[in-house]
Amino acid sequence: TKFEPVRLGRILQEMLPMLRNEAMLHDITLRYEPRNDLPLVLADKEMLKQVFLNLGKNAIEAMGKGGSLVIRERRGDPRLGQVSVDICDTGGGIPAELLDRVFDPFFTTKEQGTGLGLSICQRIVHDLGGHIDVASSSAGTVFTVSIPFVGVRG
Ligand code: ADP
Ligand code: MG
Repeated sequence: TKFEPVRLGRILQEMLPMLRNEAMLHDITLRYEPRNDLPLVLADKEMLKQVFLNLGKNAIEAMGKGGSLVIRERRGDPRLGQVSVDICDTGGGIPAELLDRVFDPFFTTKEQGTGLGLSICQRIVHDLGGHIDVASSSAGTVFTVSIPFVGVRG
């Protein structure tokens, strides 16, 4: 795979049209909060695109018809030297007792689900030295992808 220094915002911009279309079909508002002052990450652009697309699709699937999807870029934990992307939905949330299992291969609560999306996302992000966190309540779910940035400022 070809790792190159890339701006997360560029990856998000390129993946957004697909997600916007999917959101529109489900009457979901999609808001993207870009940042142009964040450092670059070293990654395979196409693989990271898959990660954000998967998380976005899960969010849309969790909401069904109507709702709000927010994708936010931000500086991550400064001690870890990371940049982060939050994917926030207003879906039904993940029951606390299932939170540990959503990254397990083949874990799915969907009739037609493969349960592979999150495990693949997690592997891709771990391979970059990053991590994915999840926080959920009955008001919705936030998945956060955090990736180490490279020394050069964007
Ligand atoms: P699949 O989408 O095929 O079910 P995933 O690995 O992408 O497989 O997700 C696993 C499970 O995690 C889903 O079936 C669902 O129960 C839960 N999940 C993932 N994302 C969300 C979300 N945004 N809101 C609620 N539940 C979620
Ligand atoms: Mg999925």
